[in-house]
Amino acid sequence: MKDKIAEKLKGLRASKNRDDVICILQNSSTPVSVEDIYEKIKKTNNKISLSTVYRIIEKLVNLGIVHKVTTLDDNKALYEIIKDSHTHHHYMICVKCKKMIPIDDCPVKELEKIIADKTGFNITGHKFELYGECENCARKDKK
Ligand SMILES: [Zn+2]
Ligand SMILES: [Zn+2]
Repeated sequence: MKDKIAEKLKGLRASKNRDDVICILQNSSTPVSVEDIYEKIKKTNNKISLSTVYRIIEKLVNLGIVHKVTTLDDNKALYEIIKDSHTHHHYMICVKCKKMIPIDDCPVKELEKIIADKTGFNITGHKFELYGECENCARKDKK
């Protein structure tokens, strides 16, 4: 996993800032925004600026190390490390508290096969999210 990232970074200049960003993304179980990363990084690395974090993220997306997770709220882009090209996560997103809960399995994979077989379309990826209320928010509503 680590080696895969190292492989993609091969030939690039070493960068502590970039390593810090990757480290935060790797230690986060849910997707994070650039602002979140910046807030965390600031605690140990006071030389970094928000625009630097933006630049690093953009670069990591281009390198295929990080990908952007779409959410209902388009103004807040969230990012996560691409773990393995064959396993990926989908999320249930709470519209109230914005919590993102990963779904273990990919519910689209089977459907993808069926559609590809039927149409001959070469499917290379998909996006799938569920929106609603998390357990906590749903409970609060009932009171
Ligand atoms: Zn919620
Ligand atoms: Zn999937």
